[in-house]
Amino acid sequence: EEEIPEDHPRYQDLLTRHRIEAGVEKGITHLQGMHAEGRGSAFDYLLGEETIPSADDAERAAAAHLLLAEHPVLSINGNVAALVPGEMVALAEAVDADLEVNLFNRTPERIDAIADHLREHGAGDVKGLEADARIPNLEHKRAKVDADGIYDADVVLVPLEDGDRAEALDEMGKTEIVIDLNPLSRSPQVADVPIVDNIIRAVPNMTEHARALADSDEAELEAIIEDFDRERALENAEERIRSGDL
Ligand code: ATP
Ligand code: MG
Repeated sequence: EEEIPEDHPRYQDLLTRHRIEAGVEKGITHLQGMHAEGRGSAFDYLLGEETIPSADDAERAAAAHLLLAEHPVLSINGNVAALVPGEMVALAEAVDADLEVNLFNRTPERIDAIADHLREHGAGDVKGLEADARIPNLEHKRAKVDADGIYDADVVLVPLEDGDRAEALDEMGKTEIVIDLNPLSRSPQVADVPIVDNIIRAVPNMTEHARALADSDEAELEAIIEDFDRERALENAEERIRSGDL
């Protein structure tokens, strides 16, 4: 990471790519994660590599959902662990959520490596190692979650989630927050709160919102949630991408 000069015009993008490479080398990120990152990077370029106002609204609504939740859980996959480990730990602390490792390409080695990586970044208890419950209507291998984690959660944050699992979680009736730079991908399309933003910007901004809202009463948080319009957020992001107006 130290080789990239901070004044490079594509600094953040290069840093992101390096973190995924390092994640692959460390055994926490699957090689497929490189492709996912490449797709995200193309959409971020078209968004102007900044948090657009509708994404900031979504991040605030997401913070309100997490603060109001009975049992919020933040899902961590290999790309999330490589890109924002400390930031996810900070968000979990700010909203009192559980962290659960949840992998598309699940191996015991990668689960352990990611749990260790999160603990190195300050995490306490990390869920996802038991995998003693199943999300209904999903292929067995993809369905594994912790009974006292995602299975039990009322609000879940699933960044960079696969479309099938996002749909299955939605069908379980959970309030689903998705971070995904592609507004047309199935995951943001089924989310209650679709955040079309780079996870690198989205997570710290959610934490800031959560800290600012920490002393708000339930009615204030509910009003923020009520005001948020998921369709408009998806439309605004798509318009921004199509406009070529950077
Ligand atoms: P599918 O339609 O099956 O979901 P996909 O192209 O969405 O296919 P995934 O592996 O689900 O493939 O894609 C990863 C998703 O994560 C992409 O939509 C991409 O835009 C998004 N993404 C990648 N990197 C980031 C990032 N840093 N921040 C936010 N979103 C990202
Ligand atoms: Mg997708």
